[in-house]
Amino acid sequence: MIQPRLAFLGMLLLSVPFAAVAQQHTIHAASAQNQHSGAVGGPVEPGMPTAKPDPAIAASLQQISPEHIRHTIEKLVSFHTRLTISPATPAAIAGGRGVGAAREWIRSEFQRYSDACGGCLEVKTDEFVEGPVRRIPQPTQIVNVYAVLRGSDPANTGRMYLVVGHYDSRPSNDQDMESAAPGANDDGSGTAVVLECARVLSQKKFPATVIFLTVAGEEQGLNGSRHFAKMARDQNWNLEAVLSNDIVGGDRSPGQDTRIVRVFSEGIPATASADEIKQIRAMGQENDSPSRELARYMREISRQYLLPGFGAKMIFRPDRYLRGGDHLSFNDQGYAAVRLTEYREDFAHQHQNPRRENGIEYGDLAKFVDYDYVANVARLNAATLSSLASAPAPPGDVRLDTKQLTNDSTLFWNPSPGGLASTYEVLWRMTTAPDWENAEAVASGTRTTIDRSKDNVYFAVRAVDEKGHKSLPVIPKPER
Ligand SMILES: [Zn+2]
Repeated sequence: MIQPRLAFLGMLLLSVPFAAVAQQHTIHAASAQNQHSGAVGGPVEPGMPTAKPDPAIAASLQQISPEHIRHTIEKLVSFHTRLTISPATPAAIAGGRGVGAAREWIRSEFQRYSDACGGCLEVKTDEFVEGPVRRIPQPTQIVNVYAVLRGSDPANTGRMYLVVGHYDSRPSNDQDMESAAPGANDDGSGTAVVLECARVLSQKKFPATVIFLTVAGEEQGLNGSRHFAKMARDQNWNLEAVLSNDIVGGDRSPGQDTRIVRVFSEGIPATASADEIKQIRAMGQENDSPSRELARYMREISRQYLLPGFGAKMIFRPDRYLRGGDHLSFNDQGYAAVRLTEYREDFAHQHQNPRRENGIEYGDLAKFVDYDYVANVARLNAATLSSLASAPAPPGDVRLDTKQLTNDSTLFWNPSPGGLASTYEVLWRMTTAPDWENAEAVASGTRTTIDRSKDNVYFAVRAVDEKGHKSLPVIPKPER
């Protein structure tokens, strides 16, 4: 225990402006570390001291209910199958069976939450016909259902933060419309996270906009999210962050670690041009995509609001090895997007017809879901969305002065638009560090010189409001 503590104290000495807050946090983090010592990959890893929680955000996290999440997941399972190509006729919907019945229920849930907050949510659908394409042999209507909590500040309402899960499911054969496809974990859990965030956050007001999205077609080829992300791009949405929750049920099989949710993020942005890749290579910034900064932001939020019992574990790859999900549709349109997935998946409980074979129980059944775990994932999402939608816009056009060779580093930027910023912070870390290690408040203005060589560390700048809500950080471009 001695070495991590010394390292931590070292960081305190380096980050003077945080000393008061950090002092308090030392005890917190150290005790959490003791509690989990020896565990591989526990939620507590060295990192920057975090700020105190915002009491209003902390209070809303208390509203997130494992019992309500259980109800949502059991209801989704009750539709027998939510295969995207399953019948969605009026008769099927009336009979409570198939993908159409599921989407009508989700829509009615959003509407119910909206009615409870005086119509604060705009409940919408994004509908289109897909196919014939691979896995969708006939032209099929795909319906994304979403709710918008419009930002209350005209100068900030154009900034959007989105949480998404997919409500479709599949049995062993992705063309089989008859077999049960309960999809309790994949992705009833993510859908439940979206609905629970909508239910709880609709009782709040934020300067910026929050969108709660459930998509279909994920299992057939990310069809729903691809259409939605393209719509966002075509309409030029300022979508600053996308949180995709897919398989966040905390499957109860042996080996699960319920203290961890994995957060996957791309390193090189999917849309980087050849010139941009050249620049990334020249500056060694393979590890600083906007999606990765979003992953770091979530980890900081988990340390701020959810330790010691639960934390975000960053995985530095776009998704699980050679696999995919809805966040990639947003990455493909140039948006920062991450995927959240439970620590250890049980592949007998995904994409399988429910059955027993050689003593193994197959199927994505509700009884394997850990509702307290899903509630923690929902809290991480809600805290991230609340913080981002409360925070100022990121600073604009951040630059690192390289006109002359110097051993210190001068950064300058445009003010955060929208008028919410009261100050700025410069973040930095060693080039080999996974996460930001230091934050220094900027005394005033939009220019500062840090007594550290740009050759040896990575920098970013973020905007902060009076209550301490922090924007996403922005990586500087060189000013030659
Ligand atoms: Zn899935």
